[in-house]
Amino acid sequence: MKLKCPICGSNKTTRKLVGVDHSFSKESFSVFDCNNCGVSFSFPEISEKILSKYYPKEKYQSYKVSVGSPFDMIYKFVRFINSFNKYRLLKNLIKGDVLDYGSGSGFFAGFLRKKNITVYEYEPINSNKNKWRLTKESLKKKKKVFSVITLWHVLEHINDPEKELGFIKSLLKKDSHIVVAMPNKDSYDNIYYNKYWAGYDLPRHRYHFSPKSFSFLCNKVGLKIKRILPMYYDSYYVSVLSEKNKKSMFSFIKGLYIGFVSNLNAIKSKNYSSLIYVLENE
Ligand SMILES: [Zn+2]
Repeated sequence: MKLKCPICGSNKTTRKLVGVDHSFSKESFSVFDCNNCGVSFSFPEISEKILSKYYPKEKYQSYKVSVGSPFDMIYKFVRFINSFNKYRLLKNLIKGDVLDYGSGSGFFAGFLRKKNITVYEYEPINSNKNKWRLTKESLKKKKKVFSVITLWHVLEHINDPEKELGFIKSLLKKDSHIVVAMPNKDSYDNIYYNKYWAGYDLPRHRYHFSPKSFSFLCNKVGLKIKRILPMYYDSYYVSVLSEKNKKSMFSFIKGLYIGFVSNLNAIKSKNYSSLIYVLENE
């Protein structure tokens, strides 16, 4: 089967692998590589109508609030450390209101508010309400308002990232920043785990970017990548989940080891498991 690349329109695509939705539906999905712009994409894409099948609200990790299994507790611990590191990065960029686009449970937005930062949230799936939550309609009225817009592991879920990034760009003030975190398909842990790689998260992740393919998309939208930063803890989290996908014994220990090897490899290659891109509007 030949598919047209949804990002660059090239016909030079090849099926890379067939993987499984390990988390919920257990259905199979394909991942295609574009040999022109370098992006990988999941197929078939999931339409709005059947979204809830793949994002069951009580079970989806980003929406959870309660502490359950030891793995949940580790997730929460890493989330706290990650929030602190994210805050350190954003501190110097924030010169006004912040928008957390795809805010999930709202944990990070709440974390920033405790630092006296005004943070609005947008979250299309999780319907938790608070006074900072904006709908798409109310967002459309907030053109050129925000000094920083963050997308933490969000853009890879979106079916039309070019259109969405263009919209997000229109919400920025002059000399402001978009901060995007995503799994890196050129990471060692992807190469090692291949179809079991938790960074694919099929079919919820529609796109699988590398720095090269993401730079192609940013160019199209008129955004410039100013800096690329590592997320050191994601390699451990993703690798433990990948070991679970493989149903391997001692998944925790093995995952931690591969996570460590991934970070070690990335010292030279810069291909950390997940990357943070700081984008500037031109
Ligand atoms: Zn392409």
